[in-house]
Amino acid sequence: MKSCIFCGIASREAQASLVYEDALCLAFMDLFPMRPGHVLVVNKRHAQFVHQLTPEERAHLFETGNRIGQALRQTSLKPDALHFNINDGKAAHQTVPHVHLHVLPRYEGDLLAFAGGIFGKPLQMLRGGTKRTVLDRQAEEIRLALGFRSLH
Ligand code: AMP
Ligand code: ZN
Repeated sequence: MKSCIFCGIASREAQASLVYEDALCLAFMDLFPMRPGHVLVVNKRHAQFVHQLTPEERAHLFETGNRIGQALRQTSLKPDALHFNINDGKAAHQTVPHVHLHVLPRYEGDLLAFAGGIFGKPLQMLRGGTKRTVLDRQAEEIRLALGFRSLH
């Protein structure tokens, strides 16, 4: 098993609810979501920091995040707004040292639920995260909105 969990997901050694994949990046549901529908877009090649990506990888990561955000808006989750967020280093709360873009649904007046997502993360982790069936269903909805039915 790879030491980096996101490399493990990219090589299919670790489980994930996949939303999208191409030659440069892949996207999957966050196992401990801040809000339902929280997607991570991950550069396939391992690098911890944004500045370690090639210009092409950097541009592609955001372009893919944008496409996924647009797809998310078309799902039954119907977010009012989105966060596109990268935590680039430990002091910026990067917990997985492999570059990833968070695409995160937000709703009018959801500050308390959002704060619950932040402060409830340790508890979510103790419980093993969101049920795989729930994450798979969300991933499928986003894939359909993107125009993909299934991934290999
Ligand atoms: P960050 O704090 O920016 O490094 O974000 C890492 C994200 O990865 C967090 O939102 C975690 O909930 C998420 N995460 C950690 N392990 C997994 C996993 N095995 N599958 C999916 N998401 C994960
Ligand atoms: Zn990695």
